[in-house]
Amino acid sequence: MTSTESSATATFHDVASYDAVVVGAGFAGMYLIHKLRQDGLSVRAIEAGTDVGGTWYWNRYPGARCDVPSMEYSYGFDSELEQSWEWTEIMAAQPEILGYARHVADRFDLRRHISFSTRVVAAVFDEERATWMVSTDRGDRLEAPFCIMATGALSAANIPDIAGLERFRGPVLHTGAWPKQGVDLSGRVGIIGTGSSGVQAIPVIAEQAEHLFVFQRTPGFTFPANNKALRPDVQQAYKENYAEVRERQRHSPNGFSNWSPIRKASLRETDGPRPARPEIRTDTPEQRKQAWRTYGFGVFQRYSDVYQDLDANALAVDLFADHVHEVVTDPAVAESLTPEGYPLGCKRQVLDTNFFETFNRANVTLVDLRRGAIVEITETGLRTTEGHYELDTLIFATGFDAMTGALERIDLRGRGAVALRDVWANGPSTYLGLQVAGFPNLFTVTGPGSPSVLANVIVAIEQHVEWIAACIGHLRANGFRTIEATAPAAQAWGLHVNEVAEGTMYVAPTCNSWYLGANIEGKARMFLPYVGGLGRYRARCEEVVANGYEGFTLA
Ligand code: FAD
Ligand code: NAP
Repeated sequence: MTSTESSATATFHDVASYDAVVVGAGFAGMYLIHKLRQDGLSVRAIEAGTDVGGTWYWNRYPGARCDVPSMEYSYGFDSELEQSWEWTEIMAAQPEILGYARHVADRFDLRRHISFSTRVVAAVFDEERATWMVSTDRGDRLEAPFCIMATGALSAANIPDIAGLERFRGPVLHTGAWPKQGVDLSGRVGIIGTGSSGVQAIPVIAEQAEHLFVFQRTPGFTFPANNKALRPDVQQAYKENYAEVRERQRHSPNGFSNWSPIRKASLRETDGPRPARPEIRTDTPEQRKQAWRTYGFGVFQRYSDVYQDLDANALAVDLFADHVHEVVTDPAVAESLTPEGYPLGCKRQVLDTNFFETFNRANVTLVDLRRGAIVEITETGLRTTEGHYELDTLIFATGFDAMTGALERIDLRGRGAVALRDVWANGPSTYLGLQVAGFPNLFTVTGPGSPSVLANVIVAIEQHVEWIAACIGHLRANGFRTIEATAPAAQAWGLHVNEVAEGTMYVAPTCNSWYLGANIEGKARMFLPYVGGLGRYRARCEEVVANGYEGFTLA
C-alpha cells in the first residue's frame, strides 16, 4: 500500500492511507518516524500533546529531571546529532530534555508527519485487507498495514478514586499532566505520593509554598542524586568517544556504558585486578556505617549480597533507617519516613535532591497515611481519619497505570475483533514485548515483557525501533503481508520473563510496586518488565531474526 503525504489532510469521511501509523511522539515515536521514513515508508504519527517529547512534554512539575546521565540518556543513532547538542548538567532538568526533543524534531523535520492534539481512541485489524483501521477523538480515520504503539510505558496517569475529588475548589494537578502555563504554588499545597515524582517535586515546592502537606502512604528508599553542572571536558570526552560509549550501552545489562573519562583514567592508574566485593553480613555495624560515609548511595552496590539475600537486604534496610534518622531532626517524622516491611530493590530506585532535609523545614508537614488513611477530599482540603487539612492546591504524584495502561485505554482489536483489554484481563502476554498473538502487524515499543523500564529507556527504545523497522523492511522486501507472534511463543516468553524475575527483590513476597501492577486497583498482579538485561534481550531478538523470525508467523 502506498500513499502520499497530501492524504494527511483527509476530512472526517475520508480515510487517509499510510504505510505505517505510529501512536505517540515521545522519544520512541520520533525515532520511528525518522527511521521508517528513511526506509521509504509513508508515516503518520498521532500525538495527544501539542508537541513532541512525551514524558518530557507532560511531566513539567517543579523539580522534574532525569536521574541518569544525560550524555547517555540521549539518542545514539546519529553521530552528527550527538555533536549538535550541549547538556548543562549531568542529569538534565525537564525543560532541557524537552528542548532536546524539540531540537531533534527540528533537525529531522519530524513535525510535518505528526497530528498533534489528537488522541487515538481505537484501532481495528481488517483481516481481509491485512490493514489497521485507526480512529481518533477528532474523527480522523487512517489506515495502514502497520500500526506501532509508541504510547509510552509511563504515560497513563493514575488518579486514585478518592471520594469527593470533584468537590475540591482549588486546582487539582497530576505530575504527569502538568499545565504548560505553570501553576501558582504560593499557598497551602497538598501532595499525595512519595515515589520518584513526589520525591523530586517536594523539595522544590516546599521552597515556593506557604505550607506543604505531604501525604505519604509508603515511605521509600531514596538516595542523593549528587547532580552537578556537566564539566565541559567531560562533555568533550564523551563526544570524542561516543562510538565506544554507545556500543557499550547497547550491550550492557541496563543501557549504561559504565564508562567515563574519569573512571577510565583512574583504572589505568591502578591497573590491577579489582578486589572481591565484600558482603554486608560479614561487616561489623561500624564498618557498615563507615562504608555508608565513604560511598553514600553507592554503598549497596559495593556489597555483593544485598540484592540476592533477604537477610543481607534487611541489614541494608537498617543502615538506611540510621541514615534517615541522622538527617531528619524530628524522631517521629524520621520514623514515618523510614521504609519497613519490604526490601530495598523492590520498587524503582529513587534519587533525590534534599528530600529528607526538606522535612526539617517549618513549612512542611508529613502526613503519615499509615497512621490515618485518606477519608475524602472536601471543598477546601483533604480529610484523613486523623483530621482535616486545609489546602489551596492538591497535587497527585500518584504515578501511572504502567506498561499496559496507555495500550488498554485504546480500543485495540485484533483478529475476530477480539479486544486487547479482554485478552489481557488476567495480565498482559506478549512475545518479546514486541507483539501480541492475534494482533498481526501491531507492534509495541517498550511493551510489557520488554526490558525497557529497567534500563536507560532511550537505549531500549532505539533497539525496539531498529528491530521493528528491520522487520517491516524484511516483510516488504520478501512479499509478506503480515507478521504475527504465535501463541506458544508468547506463552513461553511470559514464562521466561517470570523465571528470570524469580529470586530478585522485585518479586519478594512483601514487595508491592508498579512493576507488579500493584499500584492500580483491580490490575492483575504480574511482574511486567523483563529483568534479564538489555544486552541479553538484544541478543535474543537478533537470534530470533537469524532463525527466520522464530516464534512469529509470516504470511
Ligand atoms: P512517552 O515519552 O511516554 O511518549 C508517549 C507519547 O504517546 C505521549 O506523548 C502520549 O501523549 C502519547 N500517547 C499515548 N497514548 C496515546 C493515544 N491514545 N493517542 C495519541 N497519543 C498517545 N527513563 C529513563 O531511562 N531515565 C530517566 O531518568 C527517566 N525519567 C523519567 C521521569 C519521569 C517523570 C517519567 C514519567 C518517566 C521517566 N523515564 C525515564 C521513563 C520515560 O518515560 C522514558 O525514558 C521515555 O521518555 C519514554 O519515551 P516513549 O516515547 O516510549 O514514551
Ligand atoms: P510511583 O512511583 O508509582 O509513586 C506513586 C506514589 O503515590 C507512591 O508513593 C504511592 O504510594 C502513592 N500513591 C498512589 N496511590 C495512592 C493513594 N491512593 N493514596 C495515597 N498514596 C498513593 O509514581 P511516580 O513517582 O510518578 O513514578 C513512576 C515512575 O516514573 C518511576 O518509578 C520512574 O520509573 C519514572 N520517574 C522517574 C523519575 C526520575 O527521577 N527520572 C521521576 C519521576 C518518575 P504506595 O507506594 O503506597 O503505592
